[in-house]
Formats: sequence, structure tokens, C-alpha cells
Amino acid sequence: MPGFIDAHLHFAWGASYVEDIGVRHARTMSEVLTKLRDYAKANPAKEWLVGHEFSYGYPDLASGAFHKSMFDEVVSDRPVFFYSGMAHAAWVNSRALTAAGINSTTPDPEGGIIVRDEHGQPTGWLKENAAFLVKRLIPPATAEQMTSALEKALALAASCGITRVQSAGYDDHIFSILRELQQKGRLTCRFTLSSVIEPSADVDAKLAEMTELRTAYDDDYIQFRIGKFFLDGVLESHTGYMPRGYADQPEETGVLLWEVEDYRNAVAKVQASGFQVWTHAIGEGAIQTALDAYEADAKNSKLCRPRVEHVEIPRAGDIARFRKIGAIASLQPSMIYPKDEWLGMEGIWEVRAGGENLPRAFPIRAILDAGGAVAFGTDWPIIDLNPLLGIRKAVVRQSMDRQPESGWVPAQAVTVEEALQAYSLGAAYAGHREHREGSISVGKLADLVILDSNPLTQDPQAIPDLCVTATLVGGQLVYGTLPGHALHDA
Ligand SMILES: [Zn+2]
Repeated sequence: MPGFIDAHLHFAWGASYVEDIGVRHARTMSEVLTKLRDYAKANPAKEWLVGHEFSYGYPDLASGAFHKSMFDEVVSDRPVFFYSGMAHAAWVNSRALTAAGINSTTPDPEGGIIVRDEHGQPTGWLKENAAFLVKRLIPPATAEQMTSALEKALALAASCGITRVQSAGYDDHIFSILRELQQKGRLTCRFTLSSVIEPSADVDAKLAEMTELRTAYDDDYIQFRIGKFFLDGVLESHTGYMPRGYADQPEETGVLLWEVEDYRNAVAKVQASGFQVWTHAIGEGAIQTALDAYEADAKNSKLCRPRVEHVEIPRAGDIARFRKIGAIASLQPSMIYPKDEWLGMEGIWEVRAGGENLPRAFPIRAILDAGGAVAFGTDWPIIDLNPLLGIRKAVVRQSMDRQPESGWVPAQAVTVEEALQAYSLGAAYAGHREHREGSISVGKLADLVILDSNPLTQDPQAIPDLCVTATLVGGQLVYGTLPGHALHDA
């Protein structure tokens, strides 16, 4: 098959996940503690022990029962810091609290909560902005450490059959490292790069920087071509923009991070300079705002193929606009009913959005039926990097233990063929690469994945059991075995 293209992820962050203590697959608190203990033993020189994807729902840890002493018993000589699954909180040990000077007299920072016990002592659970009090002390990775972490992440991507990734932002500090790896012949995956445009940015100055980056990174391996905007947050924490209110908090409408007029002008400027615009928009109000801006700049939108990232709950009337405008819907199917990904969080989305709005939840079927272009990705490391998990999920819309029984909003399910398409040619189109990638055709780059069995003839439930036999990028073997091919020296 054509190699998988992940249309939305955060590669540098993912490399940290691979390098640090990743606990996404831990199902209990005691598994987390075992991982921490093993990692501490294997990394005696690490000043800070950092973990990712800590869950809210461990069955052996009642909600709110976390206490720093649990980490202290395992590691007391060095600070420990775990990010939550959605990076909205952190859990730390006593050493980390001391390093940050947090004690019973420390006031909660604006937008954050230091959780305390009945004696007023911090428990080590830091919500929202309180996590930054500690996070800012973690020393950034050196270029050497980053290179080593990136090589591990590249090996993981190759083992998943991924031949291109499209960066959704916050990777700026690794561009030059990627180039070095490319020059040494060690870049085993192609990269499409973006830069985030903040609401406070001077857009003209930002465009000048982006234009330089586009000149510097413009080949088949590394291409810079995207301006990324964030319009809202996520439904789970009531920050997705829902002007009609949340089902569980009708007076809450979430946040819109840009003034509409400023955003619209910035989009038009960025497209006029020939860049592709990506807009993070999860709530219906944010999706509508993005589509309005794209439609207002109709001529450039036809050329630039602006994208809406996530598209979790568009208004019914906005679904057909993707086709009309030529905008791309970029979705992460693993986020549908995320029981395997976020322990204990699988039902939260529905509580926020409301049962009567479910028919338009992650409406992949409806967007395709209306002729819209769809691309799939993961948002890795928020979600597992393996494309086969997302492909299964888009088709069956169930967790791995087949919940809910008849699928979550099964009317929005797609076929295996459509899911494979969104992970290959669809993603290539969403990155302006369909002339070179995304299918096996004469004149295209030989970016290929060989699976041990045909996904089109499998029970869709069993798709994650398929094995990647080999991955080739530009005809070079970068993972697995293939008769007559030596593994690329990476
Ligand atoms: Zn993202």
C-alpha cells in the first residue's frame, strides 16, 4: 500500500513522550509506579523524571485520592513530574514541590489550582496553570538529547508504516535537527512543517519569518508551508467554543481565542502569501468562524486548501461548506469514544455536547457524503501513533473492548477503504503532496508500506492485529525486511 501519512501530530512532543516515561497503556496506578521505578533505575543521571499521559481514571486510585507520597515512596531524591492525558494538570512528588517553593502558604496562581489536603498541605496534584509553577523548572533537552529522542521517534514512525508526518505546531525548535538528520541520511520519514500564529502576533513580521523558513525548507523530505491558528480549546474542559452553551453547563460557552475580525484578516494575509492555513476548531462556533474566514477569502481558499483541525461538532449547516469552499476536514478518529486512550474520560465528551447533538459528533461520513475532503491523523502523542488503531476506530466507532455495543454514532462510520484513503491520498492532498505521494502510481515517490495481510478483506475489528512487514521511503527500506533490500543505514 502507499505509506501512511499522519496529517496532524506534534513530533517534538512525541519524541519527548518516547524518551520520557510514557504511561498511556498503564491501566492501574501500580503499573504507573512500576514504570516510574524502572525508569528511575535505568536513568540514574536524569535530574528530572518526567512522565506523560497520566490518567484520571485508575481503578486503584479513587478520583482525587492522588497523594505525592505515592511518588515519594518510589523516588524521593529527584523531582518527578507527570503530565495528564490532555495536559490540563500535573502530578508531582515532594521534591518537585520543594524545588518550585510550593507549600501550604502558596496562593493558587491565576487560572490554576494547587490541590490541598485537609491540613492545607499541597497533595502534589496541580490543576491547569498551577502545573506551570513546576513545569518551568524542567531543563529543556539539549540538541544532543533531542536528536537521540527524535531518532527513537523516527524508528517508531517507520515501524508503524508512516512515511510522512504533518506537524501541527510547536516543532520550530527541531527544524534544524531534522535538516541535520536529513543531511546524514538518517531522516526516515518526510515532514511537512508549520508555525503557530498567536493572536498577539504581528502578522506581517510573522509572515516574513515564515517566508524565510519556506525558502530554507522546501524539498521532498522537509517542507515548511503552514500557518497554524488556534480558535478554541477542547470540549472536555469546557474551552471549545460553543456559543449555544454546553449541555452540562448551559451558561458556559467556552473560549474564542481570536477577535473574529483579526483572525479573518490574518487568514487572508497568510493565504495571500501562498501559505496553507490550519485552524484548530473543535466547538461548533469555532468551526463556523474558521469556515466563514475561509469563505470570505474564497479565491485564495480554492488554491490554498485551508484546513479545519479536529472538526468534532460542526453545525449541521456547516458540513456541506467544506466542499463548497475547498476546505479540508482533518480529523483524528482515535478520539472517537476514547476509552482506550483516556481511561475514565470516554463519556465526558457526550456529557459536554449533549445527547441530542450526537448525530453530528465527528461527522466523517456526512462530510465525505457532501463531497468534502477528509484527512486522518492522530494528534500524537495525545493519541497512539499507530494508524491501524485510527482506521479501525473510524470504521467501527468502538473502543477495543467493543464499547458502545452498536458503535458510537454508527451513522458516521466510514468504510475501511475510505479510512485508508484518508490516511494516504487524502492526507497527501491535505498537504498539497498528491502529485508525489499518497498512492502507488508512475511518477510518484516510492513511499510504501507492506502489511502481512490485506486490510480490505479483514474483519475491521482485527485491523490493529496486522503487522507492518516493511516500510519504504523513496524506495529505501527504513523498517522491516524485504528480500533483496538491505535496511537503510539509519
Ligand atoms: Zn494537535
